[in-house]
Amino acid sequence: MIFRNPSIRLRLILWNAFVVLLILSVVFLGIYSFMQNRLESLMQSKVDSGYRTIEDVIRNSGGDICDLYHLGQGIMFQVTTEGKPVYQTEAWTDALWTSSLSEAQMNPYGSLRADETQFFRLKRGSVPEYNFEIIFAFEASDSLKNIKSLVLILVVGIPAALLLALIGGYFLAGRALSPVQAITRKAQDITAENLSERLPVRNPHDEIGHLAAVFNDTLGRLESSFEQLRRFTADASHELRTPLTSIRSVGEVALKKSGDIASCQEAIGSMLEETDRLTHLVDNLLILARGDAGKAKLTPTSINISAEMGEIVEELRILAEEKNQTLSTSIEKIMEVKVDKETLRLAVSNILHNAILYTQEGGRIEVHTAKAENGEVIIDIIDNGPGIPEAKRAKVFERFYRVDKARSRKEGGAGLGLAIARWAVEVNGGSIAFRDNKKPGTHCRIILPS
Ligand code: ATP
Ligand code: MG
Repeated sequence: MIFRNPSIRLRLILWNAFVVLLILSVVFLGIYSFMQNRLESLMQSKVDSGYRTIEDVIRNSGGDICDLYHLGQGIMFQVTTEGKPVYQTEAWTDALWTSSLSEAQMNPYGSLRADETQFFRLKRGSVPEYNFEIIFAFEASDSLKNIKSLVLILVVGIPAALLLALIGGYFLAGRALSPVQAITRKAQDITAENLSERLPVRNPHDEIGHLAAVFNDTLGRLESSFEQLRRFTADASHELRTPLTSIRSVGEVALKKSGDIASCQEAIGSMLEETDRLTHLVDNLLILARGDAGKAKLTPTSINISAEMGEIVEELRILAEEKNQTLSTSIEKIMEVKVDKETLRLAVSNILHNAILYTQEGGRIEVHTAKAENGEVIIDIIDNGPGIPEAKRAKVFERFYRVDKARSRKEGGAGLGLAIARWAVEVNGGSIAFRDNKKPGTHCRIILPS
């Protein structure tokens, strides 16, 4: 099982051992063949020079084998004529194996292992002018011993080095992977409840440190998303509770009253009003939820923005008239923009609705649509209402944010309209912001790309 799914540590150890084995084998084999060749050529030259000395002595003495005596008795050689020995050193005589030496063992070179420790190199040749045959033997036991020692080093050394590589690899892999273990332990402890915790970063410049830092960034983003979601859920439940409580209390009061039609109708009317508010809120929540999930159906088409703006203004004009407000427009003729019509309508009507809602009775609202030099379409919605304090101009785009909570609640807003407007504009590639228009009131500008 452990070998079917090996851990990184085990894989590192095995790879390390494999590489060490490979390197050692190549190095040892190189040394072995080098030493073998060196000893071989050394023995060859020894046996050649020994043989040549005997040959030279015979030639120089004119075939007088007595001169060979001066070479000493420690050297091993034998001189024969027609197979019969005519001279041999004591060393040759003492070595028992020489008596059973066959010609086949030397042609002209040969080698012979007398016993476990003794090894000889042989050379056979003739001096035809004197009808002599020479057999020279050189003891190469030391060379054999050297080769044996080398093989011993190989046999013991390679497994020992391998064992060291395994032990070293085990500790090295442990050291290298210890930050990963620390990260794993920490990551196991992180849940939705303690998203503010971070993974340990020992060295931000190495690969593991970099990985941990990237994970920490992801955790940071997750934390803020979770926080947003938590806030959103809490705010949404709160906003949904308000109309529901209102419906319930109106119902309870109506039930307690004696059943006259007028008060029942009044109760039903106010319940329907709250239901409308609930429907509006749920619709807005759905729009935002779809936007967040990226599931909103967008079909960008080329639309005539002038005509579109005209329609939205006419749809909301009735609300402005109810408040005796003047709603004036200046819209440049025929400007084609490629946007999703429904989301653009959502954005503009939310802004215009706010302008009408928050501007006092008899106030003034202007809608301008123009094309900038770079081809962008600029939509300005300006009113002379109470305005939005500069510090809050960015905040009003947040979900459930209202500048004046008491006032807005009375007028029915949950604080989602601008969040929806911003999403709707941005999803069409545009931007939206409140500008400083120096005069009292608000100036909202939507810019759509050309
Ligand atoms: P909803 O639009 O969800 O029904 P809402 O109108 O309160 O509720 P937003 O449209 O997001 O929410 O507006 C946020 C807040 O910004 C408002 O509550 C209001 O305080 C302020 N605001 C928006 N437009 C104007 C405006 N034209 N003049 C003054 N204040 C504004
Ligand atoms: Mg609004």
